[in-house]
Amino acid sequence: MTTTAPSPAIVVTNPADGSVVGSVPDASAEEVRRVVDELRIYQPAWEEIGAQARGVWLGRLRDWLLDHESEIADTLQSEAGKARAEAEAEAPMICELINYYSKNAAAFLTDERIPSSGALTAQKKLVKVYRPYPVVGIITPWNFPFAMPGMDCVPALAAGAAVVIKPSEVTPLSAQLLERAWTEIGAPPVLRVVTGLGATGAALVDAVDYIQFTGSTRTGKAIGAHAAGLLKPYSLELGGKDPALVLADADLDRAVNGIAWGGLMNSGQVCVSIERVYVEAPVYDEFVAKLAAKVNSLRQGQDDATYKQDVGALATLAQQQIVDGHVQAAVAEGARVLTGGKVGATGTFYEPTVLVDVNQSMACMREETFGPTIPVMKVADAEEGIRLANDSPYGLSATVWTSNLKRGEGIARRLDAGAVNVNDAIINLLAFSVPHGGWKESGVGARFGGANGVRKYCRTQVVTVPRMKTMKNEMNWYPYKARRAGLSGRVMRLIVARDARRRFSRRPPKA
Ligand code: NAD
Repeated sequence: MTTTAPSPAIVVTNPADGSVVGSVPDASAEEVRRVVDELRIYQPAWEEIGAQARGVWLGRLRDWLLDHESEIADTLQSEAGKARAEAEAEAPMICELINYYSKNAAAFLTDERIPSSGALTAQKKLVKVYRPYPVVGIITPWNFPFAMPGMDCVPALAAGAAVVIKPSEVTPLSAQLLERAWTEIGAPPVLRVVTGLGATGAALVDAVDYIQFTGSTRTGKAIGAHAAGLLKPYSLELGGKDPALVLADADLDRAVNGIAWGGLMNSGQVCVSIERVYVEAPVYDEFVAKLAAKVNSLRQGQDDATYKQDVGALATLAQQQIVDGHVQAAVAEGARVLTGGKVGATGTFYEPTVLVDVNQSMACMREETFGPTIPVMKVADAEEGIRLANDSPYGLSATVWTSNLKRGEGIARRLDAGAVNVNDAIINLLAFSVPHGGWKESGVGARFGGANGVRKYCRTQVVTVPRMKTMKNEMNWYPYKARRAGLSGRVMRLIVARDARRRFSRRPPKA
C-alpha cells in the first residue's frame, strides 16, 4: 500500500500582533492536478444545468455569506490585520456581484444568431455559442483575501466553469470559507481551494484551462510567460500607481476626504488606491494643510465590532519594509513628512503618512508603495498634472477632483488608465457592469464588464446550419472542372465587385 506524505504546512499569523491563527497545506503539483482532475468529472453537469440553475446555487451562496458575515470578518481580521469596518465590507460586496450575475448571466450567455457576412454564407444559419473553459484557475493576492477570490469565482461559476482558487499563502483562511460555504449549501462540487506557495500557483497554471490572476506585475509577467508557453488564455490584474489630480476649482473638503480614504483605505493595500497626488498651485497650500489634519486625525489599530479604528495593519513585515523604504528614501532626497512617517509600535502597522516636497523621480512617486502613504506634489496647472500622471509604467486607475464635471470628464479621457473616477475614489471597482482592467503594466484583460465578465470564461463556438434543403454536392466541392470554375468565378465577381466593369467582365487572364 502506498501512502502519500502529508503536505508541509504553512503557518498563518495575524500581522497586527504576530499571533498564530491557523495553518494550511502547501499543496504539491500532484495534489493540484488531482483536484483539477476531480473537477473535470463534475464540470459537464454544471455546464449542462444552465445559467438559471447556476444562479440559484449562487443565490444560496449569497445567503450563506450573509448568515456568516461576522465569521468572515473575524477571519479576515485574523489573517490580514484589517480594521473591522473594512473586514465587514468584503462579503456584502460579493453578494451584490452574485445578484448581478445571477440575474444577468443567462442573457449574457444566450446563443447569438449572427447575420451572414455576405453571399458566401447567405444560406446558413450562424449561431455563436458560449461554452465555458472546463476548469478555471484563480490565483489571488493577500490584500482582499475574501473579495478577490470571490470577485473572480462568481462570474466563472456563473459561466459554467469549475473553479480552483489558489489564495495567497499569507491569507489563505478567508478563501477556504468560500469552499466551505459551497459545500455546506450542498452545491455541485465544482469549487475548490488549493493552498500553497508560488509553486502551487504555477502547478495550477499547468493543470487548468484558463488562468485569472490578480497580484503583482512581477508575478503577472511570470504567469503570462508560463501560460503563453502552454498556449493557455489568461487575464492579469496587476499593480498600479494611481494618480489623483486636484484642480483649483475642486471642492477641497471632498477632495481631501476622498483622497485620504482612497489612499489609506485597507492601509493603502488596494490595487486602485491613490498613490500620488498632483495639486494645482493656487490650492496646494490649503489642500495640503487640510489633508495633513485629516490624516493626522485617523485612528490606527485592530478593533472589534466597536469600529474604533480607521487604519489597520499591513499584511506582512515585508510590506512594512517596502513602505518605510519609500518614505525614508523620499526624506533622504528632501521630502518632508507632514504626519506619520514611522513604523507602528507593534506588529506590521505603519502610521498613515502625508509626504510633501516630493518629486517625480522619487520611488514614492514611481514605484507601487501599497501602503498608507500619500505623497503630494504641486503642479503649475492641469496640463502639467496630466503629463506627470501619465508618466508611469502603470495605468490602472486615476482620479480627478473638480467642480466642473464636464472638464473632469474631458481630463479623464486624456489619462492613460483603465478607469478614471471624477470626484471619487475606488468606486469603479464596485461597478460590475463595466470592465475593471489595467493599461500598460497594470494588466491584460479585465474582470467584470457586464457580459464580458462571464464571456471571458467561455470559448466561443460557432455552429453553422443550412437554412434550406441541401444539394448532393456544392459548386466549390470536388471534382474541380474548368466549366464550374469559370462559372463560380463569374458568380463571385458578380457578388463581390462594386463597379459594373469588374462585375460583368471575366476573370483577368493568368499572369
Ligand atoms: P504576488 O504577485 O506576490 O502574489 C499573488 C499570488 O501569486 C499569490 O497567491 C502567490 O502565491 C502567487 N504566485 C507567486 N508566484 C507565482 C508563480 N510563479 N506562479 C503562479 N502563482 C504565483 O502579489 P501579492 O504581493 O500577494 O499582492 C499584491 C499585489 O497585487 C500588488 O501589486 C497589487 O497591486 C496587486 N493587486 C492587483 C489588483 C488588480 O485588480 N489589478 C487587485 C489586488 C491586488
